[in-house]
Amino acid sequence: MLAVAASSCQFRLRSAMAPYESKIVPSVWITWLAKLMADELQCHWSALFRSHYTYGKVPSNFDSAQWSARHRRLLNQRVTWLEEEGCEVHVEGENWFEMPGRQHAIRVAGKPDIVAIRGNDAWVEDCKTGKPKNADLYQVLLYMLLVPLSVERCQGLRLEGRLVYADGIIDVPASQVNVEFKAQLREAISILSNTTSARRVPSFQECRFCDIPLQCCPERVENPPDQSLENHDLF
Ligand code: SF4
Repeated sequence: MLAVAASSCQFRLRSAMAPYESKIVPSVWITWLAKLMADELQCHWSALFRSHYTYGKVPSNFDSAQWSARHRRLLNQRVTWLEEEGCEVHVEGENWFEMPGRQHAIRVAGKPDIVAIRGNDAWVEDCKTGKPKNADLYQVLLYMLLVPLSVERCQGLRLEGRLVYADGIIDVPASQVNVEFKAQLREAISILSNTTSARRVPSFQECRFCDIPLQCCPERVENPPDQSLENHDLF
């Protein structure tokens, strides 16, 4: 069970003076929450750990400078287009929010790329440089649910969503923020609040994209499994 796994990890970490600290209030960033809800995160324990602790991260081999440049270009193009359409446009830090829950002691934080407002209509947009993923959709749906509740300038407006890719735009209608979606959100928050079990799923496939170091997760798999099998006559 996660509760046991989490507390035993806690003990090991404290005794080893590992580079981690409990957050004063647990918090989850919308990008992880979206991956969890979209079932694109097998190791739920990693999301739980990130929500409860700050830690020294494993350096990423992902080229963040290139990603930032591509993302900035896409975002700037979009802002120009929206302004030409007569929208009042707010970007990134201007849209930051952190919402506390009542049933669980956890905050949900996010920063939509773009919030565009024209009259009583508003659009929350996220710019994506990669291929479309289900988590992208969940991310925008979470913004559509939480932005009107936490960003004052959006309260009372009709809000729709859009996913902006280099080769096209996907509209996300408000009707998708429905009862089922809210139930999925509550389930994910419950996992991250450590009120239900969350599995640690160590595998090279998952761990190589995880920034939690070995000192915090002793089960981290750093190398691919040995697959040097003989050719088989099955096929
Ligand atoms: S290193 Fe692997 S097992 Fe450990 S939290 Fe990350 S994904 Fe899970």
